[in-house]
Amino acid sequence: MSKRRRWPFIVGAVLVVLAPTFFWFFMESGTPEGTWTIDLAEVRRLASSVPGEKASAIHFEPVAHFEFPATAIVAGDGFSMKDMTVYSYQLVFPDRRVIVDTSMDETTAKKGGAVAFDAEAFARVTAALSDASQIVVTHEHFDHLAGLAMHRDVKALMAKATLTKEQLSEPTRMDPLVFPAAALDGYRPLETGALHAIAPGVVLIKSPGHTPGSQLVYVQRADGTEVLFLGDVAWHWRNVELVRERARLVTAVFLHEDRAAVLRELAELHRLAEAEPKLNLVPGHDAARVERFTTAGVLVKGFVPSAASK
Ligand SMILES: [Zn+2]
Repeated sequence: MSKRRRWPFIVGAVLVVLAPTFFWFFMESGTPEGTWTIDLAEVRRLASSVPGEKASAIHFEPVAHFEFPATAIVAGDGFSMKDMTVYSYQLVFPDRRVIVDTSMDETTAKKGGAVAFDAEAFARVTAALSDASQIVVTHEHFDHLAGLAMHRDVKALMAKATLTKEQLSEPTRMDPLVFPAAALDGYRPLETGALHAIAPGVVLIKSPGHTPGSQLVYVQRADGTEVLFLGDVAWHWRNVELVRERARLVTAVFLHEDRAAVLRELAELHRLAEAEPKLNLVPGHDAARVERFTTAGVLVKGFVPSAASK
């Protein structure tokens, strides 16, 4: 066979080897094996176990944007670029405010590859962190934690920050964020079981997988409206809707994620969404979903100013 005639066979052989590899790392989600469950009746009981009035409203600030290829978010979705909005949430009670996720400062956003940053929105988050009586994060990634870690008053804020033992267990997962060591000096992280109520109507639900410290945050408002913050168990609603994970390249190489655990969690969230249509599930970075909940009056855009700045 001449050299010229050999080429098609060589190219074909290379494709035969590469195609399954490409499919495995870029396109394939995998399916859940085993089960992971949320006892919603127990979550609701715990939500009402803390005395005091529940939150009257849930506000949010969109602080920054990433852009990822669609398949990085939902395996098999192609390579068009999709928005990933970074949020901070403020639960407004008659007598207190609780922050869920702190977004990130501009320096960390640039290091992490953000394509847009709203300095005014982040200034409102910074003020709200000072004003809050409690601060929790869905997990220990920089785009959820840096607003707290890089705050000028981080040491003082740690007195009201409820970070879990798991969230502080592997600091390299915060990369490119480095939590200031002095701020953690003497800090006692929360050690709990699967469910833990932190405020009237607010319950943390352990969901390790995306990171060891991942947790869902359930919020029941005073009017009965229920919201479940998913953190980054799901980046977009399609993860839950289709029970599909991020591309394997992302979870294996960049996130070092427990993919099997996340798939089990997505399956349970999918089941819950169908069984509990009034439960509002909020993925970590899905602007369309947040907009839908804003239109429905479940979420309110823009933080309530702190009492000091009124
Ligand atoms: Zn995130």
